[in-house]
Amino acid sequence: MEIPNNEKIDIPESAGWTEKLSRAEARIAALELENARLREEIIALKAVKPADAETTGFVEASGVLWKQKPAGGYESIPYCPTCKSTLGDYSGSLLCLKCNWQAPIKSFEVPKVFNDLFGEGSR
Ligand SMILES: [Zn+2]
Repeated sequence: MEIPNNEKIDIPESAGWTEKLSRAEARIAALELENARLREEIIALKAVKPADAETTGFVEASGVLWKQKPAGGYESIPYCPTCKSTLGDYSGSLLCLKCNWQAPIKSFEVPKVFNDLFGEGSR
């Protein structure tokens, strides 16, 4: 990422008012340009995110989602079917903190369910 070189448009103390004003204008123009560029970058990044999520495969089993790893196999952490966030262990229950969804399986069942689904070799 390029950051505008403020060094070039720095305003010296000795500069007259006209000079100061023109340099300040140049600085504002450079910052406006940078701001516009950053806005475009944010919009582009936001557009990429959902597409990436779609290409990352999930499979549903035992009422939860299992995420496919890019290198093959599946992550051993279950995901929420509603919002696709990772599920956490809360007093033995599997919960999604994002949407308050509770999984039909308990935390202790996860390793067994995972092995039954994908086998030891998938880990
Ligand atoms: Zn959720």
